[in-house]
Amino acid sequence: MSKRIIFATGNKGKMNEIREIMADFNLPILSMEEAGVYTEAEETGSSFLENSFIKARAVAEKCKDSGYEDIVLADDSGLVVDALNGEPGIYSARYLGEDTSYTIKNNKILERMKDVPEKDRTARFVCAIACILPDGKEISAEARYEGIIGYEIKGTHGFGYDPIFYLPDRKLYSAELDPEEKNRISHRGRALKRMKAILSDKL
Ligand code: IMP
Repeated sequence: MSKRIIFATGNKGKMNEIREIMADFNLPILSMEEAGVYTEAEETGSSFLENSFIKARAVAEKCKDSGYEDIVLADDSGLVVDALNGEPGIYSARYLGEDTSYTIKNNKILERMKDVPEKDRTARFVCAIACILPDGKEISAEARYEGIIGYEIKGTHGFGYDPIFYLPDRKLYSAELDPEEKNRISHRGRALKRMKAILSDKL
């Protein structure tokens, strides 16, 4: 049976990133849609890792009789703000409502942080990646992208909370980085590279 990598996402940006990073495995890399797999697994876990495994297991279950040896990957990520007790955390996409604009979400976080001194503004994006191997074994990788919550909305690249996420070393907001640079240093790019290193011993 031939092997395939299935990434449990419908997001084109994530698909481009994984295709680039895992290209040298020389395996087909498919989104759920491309694999003809549809699931709406509810993210009921209490950590990024648990939620990534909920998605990966749901997709692996659907791929059981695909006729391929499928390696199923799923990610879960979000912004953790220390001064807000870890919020929005695993609720990052759902914060203030799934359909609420990021201008509103970002302004709300800035407002909640208005009296927080610089030293306490630490925050990080976290990305967990779960993988189910064709024999059912489970492996995972995680990475963090550290910064602080800034004082304004700035930059036009990136998405989500990037315009309020400030990188003190670079004196730039994450949304001011060009996409290649962000993928190189960010949580998802680095978690994917870690997963690739673990997978390369198993494939
Ligand atoms: P998911 O992993 O696609 O479910 O993403 C969760 C949410 O976390 C996104 O909808 C964003 O709100 C936030 N998020 C994750 N990664 C980033 C990032 O790199 N920049 C900005 N926001 C992010």
